[in-house]
Amino acid sequence: MVKSNYAHIKEIKEYAIENKIPIMQSDGIDFLTTFIIKHQIKNVLEIGTAIGYSAIMMALCSPNLKVTTIERDETRYLEAIKNIKKLNLEDRITLIFNDALKTRIEDKYDLIFIDAAKAQNIKFFELFERNLKEGGFIITDNMYFHGLVHKNEKEIKSRNVRGIVRKIKDYITFLKNNDNYNTTIYDIGDGIAVSEKKSKGGV
Ligand code: SAH
Ligand code: MG
Repeated sequence: MVKSNYAHIKEIKEYAIENKIPIMQSDGIDFLTTFIIKHQIKNVLEIGTAIGYSAIMMALCSPNLKVTTIERDETRYLEAIKNIKKLNLEDRITLIFNDALKTRIEDKYDLIFIDAAKAQNIKFFELFERNLKEGGFIITDNMYFHGLVHKNEKEIKSRNVRGIVRKIKDYITFLKNNDNYNTTIYDIGDGIAVSEKKSKGGV
């Protein structure tokens, strides 16, 4: 029997839970897919594929939507290839196996979705904003970092985690001070930032 998309997606989510892969939360993915439909997004650049869950969910929003997505972990990349094949989305999702910070992309996109190493968000933003169309959007996941961004730093025991939390706070400041974009952080999923690129000469 041919499995439905729904059955494949259910399996991908189960695999993510079993293997502790931080795929987007369901209210976050609902927000992202609704956003894509509302703004008639035609192409997306994603930083951080993991096993392809969010790329697949975005591609399923519209039969013409194309996603290019970058992943540096080989096991996850190979799993993403399998999952994308299962959903027959090979012609609309392009996978790049590389460190995003070492990747240069030529095309321009309506939406750039940043969901990779949280301490590197400013670097991802600065590297890939050249690939954003006028009036396009950069969306960043995990702005709350599992709720830790709002915690008193003294309560965070791990030095490493404290470092990441500080970097996310720096990223929030960076976005708020960036005059080329209007940024709103939504209290959805693990915190989602939407940065809209102002059109030239616009408000
Ligand atoms: N967007 C996915 C989840 C991504 S999890 C979903 O919601 O389904 C974050 C992923 O980013 C991890 O798999 C990690 O290996 C990858 N990653 C982190 N830093 C990266 C980098 N510099 N380049 C490419 N991938 C990176
Ligand atoms: Mg995420």
